[in-house]
Amino acid sequence: MKFGGTSVADIDRIRHVATLVKREVERGNKVAVVVSAMAGETNKLVAWTNDAARPDAAGLAALPDQREYDVVVAAGEQVTAGLLAITLNAMGIKARSWLGWQVPINTSAVHGSARIEGVPATDMQAAIENGEVAVVAGFQGVAPGTRISTLGRGGSDTSAVAVAAGISAARCDIYTDVDGVYTTDPRIVPKARRLEKIAFEEMLEMASLGAKVLQTRSVEIAMLHRVPTRVLSTFTPDVGGTLLCDEEDIVEKKPVTGIAYSRDEAKITLHKVPDKPGVASAIFGPLADAGVNVDMIVQNVSEDGKTTDLTFTCTRGELNRALAAIEAQSKAIGYRDVTHTADVAKVSIIGIGMRAHPGVAQTMFRTLSDKGINIQVISTSEIKVSVLIAEEYVELAVRALHSAYELDAA
Ligand code: ADP
Ligand code: ASP
Ligand code: MG
Repeated sequence: MKFGGTSVADIDRIRHVATLVKREVERGNKVAVVVSAMAGETNKLVAWTNDAARPDAAGLAALPDQREYDVVVAAGEQVTAGLLAITLNAMGIKARSWLGWQVPINTSAVHGSARIEGVPATDMQAAIENGEVAVVAGFQGVAPGTRISTLGRGGSDTSAVAVAAGISAARCDIYTDVDGVYTTDPRIVPKARRLEKIAFEEMLEMASLGAKVLQTRSVEIAMLHRVPTRVLSTFTPDVGGTLLCDEEDIVEKKPVTGIAYSRDEAKITLHKVPDKPGVASAIFGPLADAGVNVDMIVQNVSEDGKTTDLTFTCTRGELNRALAAIEAQSKAIGYRDVTHTADVAKVSIIGIGMRAHPGVAQTMFRTLSDKGINIQVISTSEIKVSVLIAEEYVELAVRALHSAYELDAA
C-alpha cells in the first residue's frame, strides 16, 4: 500500500491511513506500506536548500551540493514513516519503520533523481513474514557508499512499486487523492472520466507527458516486473480504482485514451544556422554533454538554401544550462542569434487505438485551430501526438480536445 502526501497530510489522516492498513491485516494480508511526506513538506524542504545555497544576492547561481540536498529533502518521509508506525502500534498492529538505507533501497549515485537498482529486502521481508507491518519511507534510497539519495519529485510511487517487486508482493495499491487514473487531470477538466483499466504503455506516456498521478519510473518498474498495480482513493477506498494492465486486456480501443499536459517546457530557437551537414550534431552534442534532455525539435525549410532556423524544447529547469551550452559553442555552430521563452506548454493525446485509426492527429490540429490556438512544434510517436502551444491556452486546449475525442463524462 502506498499513501501520497495529501493522504498523510496531518495526524487525523495518518490515523485514517492506519485504519486502512489495519483492515488489510485483519483480512489476513501481510503488508508493506510506503509513505510520502506530509503534503507541502517536500516543497518547504526544497525551498530551504535553495535559500541556504544563496546566502547573498550575488550567489544567485549557486546550486546546493546535491548530496546534501538529498539529506534535507528525504527528511519528510522519515517523519511520516515514524508517525504511521507509532499510530499502528497504538492501534494494536505490530509495525516498524524502515528508512531507505535500512530496507535497503539501493540506487544510482545521481543525487536528486536517483534510479533504484535493487531492493534486497531480506530482513524486512522476514519481519513481514513474522506478522509485522513494514512502514517504508518513500522517495529515498541509498547510493553506493552509504549516502542518502532521493528519486526525483513524485518518487514515492516508484519506491512503492520497487518494494512490491523486491518482496514479490501480490499487489501494489497506490492510494492518492483521486479514485483512479482519469482521461485527463480531473482538476482542470471536471468532465474527465475514470478509466477502469489503462495499458502500461499508455500510462507510461501519460506519466512522462505530464500526468502526475504516477511517476514515470514507477510505471516502468510495474511493467518490467509485472507488478499488479492499482490506483485508488484514500478517502473513498471502496469505490472506483484503475488497474494497470497489458494492452491485450483492453477490449475497447478508442483512438484516444487520455490527454496530458506539461507546463514544464521551454523553447529555444537558433536563427540563421548554416544549412550544411554536421550542424545538428554541432548543436545537440554540446547539449547532451551539458546533461540537457532535448525533447521536441523542428528545423525549418531553408529559404535561401544557405541558412535555416532550428527550434528545440527542454524543461524550464534546464533552460539556462542549454543556453550556456549553445552560447559556448556559438563559433562552431555559426548561428546569427538565439531566442528563448518559457511561456510555452505541451499538450499530448495518448492512445494505443491510434495505431489503427487514421486521422487522429488531424482532429487535434483542427480542434486547436477552431479555438485559434497556434501550434508551435509537433512531435509524434506510434501512440501519442504532442504539440507545443502558448502556456495561456493549456486549459482551453485540453478541454477542447477532451470533447473532440468524445472523452467527456455523460
Ligand atoms: P500523491 O501525493 O498521492 O502522490 P499527486 O498529487 O502526486 O498525489 O497525484 C495525484 C494528482 O494527479 C491528482 O490530484 C490530479 O490532480 C493529478 N492528475 C493529473 N493527471 C491525472 C489523471 N490523468 N488522472 C488522475 N489524476 C491526475
Ligand atoms: N514527497 C516527495 C515529493 O513531494 C515524493 C512523493 O510525494 O512522491 O516529491
Ligand atoms: Mg505523487
